[in-house]
Amino acid sequence: MSKSYQHFINGQTVQGTSGRTSDIFNPSLGEVTGHVALATTGELNNAVAAAKAALPEWSAMNPQRRARVLFNFKNLVEAHADELAHILSEEHGKVLADSLGDIQRGLDVIEFACGVPHLLKGEYTPGAGPGIDVYSMRQPVGVAAGITPFNFPAMIPMWMFGVAIATGCTFILKPSEKDPGVPMRLAELMMEAGAPAGVLNVVNGDKEAVDAIIDHPDIRAVSFVGSSDIAHYVYQGCAKQGKRVQAMGGAKNHGIILPDADLQQAVQDITGAAYGSAGERCMALSTVVAVGNETGDRFVEAMTDELAKLNVGISTDSAADYGPVVTAAHKQRIEDYIQMGVDEGAKLVVDGRNFSLQGYEKGFYVGPTLFDDVKPTMQSYKDEIFGPVLQVLREESFEGALELPSKHQYGNGVAIFTRSGGAAREFAQRVNVGMVGINVPIPVPVAYHSFGGWKRSAFGDANQHGMEGVRFYTQTKTVTQRWPDGETQGAAFNIPVME
Ligand code: NAD
Repeated sequence: MSKSYQHFINGQTVQGTSGRTSDIFNPSLGEVTGHVALATTGELNNAVAAAKAALPEWSAMNPQRRARVLFNFKNLVEAHADELAHILSEEHGKVLADSLGDIQRGLDVIEFACGVPHLLKGEYTPGAGPGIDVYSMRQPVGVAAGITPFNFPAMIPMWMFGVAIATGCTFILKPSEKDPGVPMRLAELMMEAGAPAGVLNVVNGDKEAVDAIIDHPDIRAVSFVGSSDIAHYVYQGCAKQGKRVQAMGGAKNHGIILPDADLQQAVQDITGAAYGSAGERCMALSTVVAVGNETGDRFVEAMTDELAKLNVGISTDSAADYGPVVTAAHKQRIEDYIQMGVDEGAKLVVDGRNFSLQGYEKGFYVGPTLFDDVKPTMQSYKDEIFGPVLQVLREESFEGALELPSKHQYGNGVAIFTRSGGAAREFAQRVNVGMVGINVPIPVPVAYHSFGGWKRSAFGDANQHGMEGVRFYTQTKTVTQRWPDGETQGAAFNIPVME
């Protein structure tokens, strides 16, 4: 049966009226399985009106009661995890175990958000002056919106609405038009968990809906995750209007292998981090910098052997290491980058083009691809490829290896593989990148720390989740109070100074 996704506004499914739709694919089969409605500005405005109407009651509710709703939601998502993972794998193409991980990483943030009564406790200074007490509280910014990418349709929406709703905001989610099935189900489950209508709305759409979010005066904070050019566009548009905005972008994550590393372990770690989810992760480790030619030769040889064992399959095949990429257009883009690498003079050690899965010839598969002798001047190195393509560069020294990720336009994640604590510590201190792994290939921070890259990987200055997330969705109000007793005091014309 063909799927048809509409919008979820004010606690119910609302039919789209624009007449514009986008196809939903099953990338494993390469077939259209349904479509999603693309919203008009008017439909987005309706969602904002619902979120605005729900705000006074939700923001005034005591935080423990809001936490209870999130706790119910967590239980419901866990109970529906298999159903959600199947929808996710079918629309995205990642394998089921990886979809369950996508859901779990989102639930980690919901668990963190369940601690909101503690997280929102303010600060208090008794006796800041004669008879004067000062206290600070964090109040919700109001109606907030999130715009999310296709590659984590469970985790990234939960990063955003989990913290926003917990802190007392109401929320509009504009998920990727490529895989809206899971976000729509999450909104339904949030209502089932006890959230009042209008607290979490989903508006499906494309640029028109995004522009309407940027322009709507009642949306006070916008969180974006996607590619860097769009992130920058959303950041600029929101900042111009005085909105709070965080906009996470693309990446090119380097793995530095020092000569003293446990190479066998590094190869295992990098295989999963480079090719898992077909390389469609913003924290995928897509670039290796081998320090010393001997390290490079050993790594490329071991990785070539590893790739011969990789199993590419349909997303529901439990034996598959990774599945197809998201669309035919994205497959073409990845293959164009492979050709670019060849034309630029990099050595193509394993070529994943023209990969065909028997019985699924129309699926959007790209085989594992490995390049050696990649140079920093190559365009295929400068850009994010976002596919199962690993590029190996060689450097003679620690300093040279440190410089590559530090100078790259992106600064999301980086990893170093070594047995030397001193080298690892120095690398972590000096590297110009936001998230660092030491013998950890995908250093996505746990929910109670914060996620965010540097340079063109993130615009704005607040990270996702953790205390930075709480600060993003709240604003500080500071009250200075005095209860005078005794004589009336005369007017003070100088700036008050605490005695
Ligand atoms: P994308 O930029 O194409 O889409 C992201 C969102 O922007 C979607 O909701 C989409 O509908 C919307 N959008 C697309 N074109 C638009 C336009 N012209 N104007 C306004 N809105 C538009 O990204 P994607 O392909 O869905 O996701 C992959 C990208 O996301 C990669 O670059 C990846 O690195 C990045 N990503 C970054 C992080 C991070 O935390 N830094 C996490 C996940 C993904």
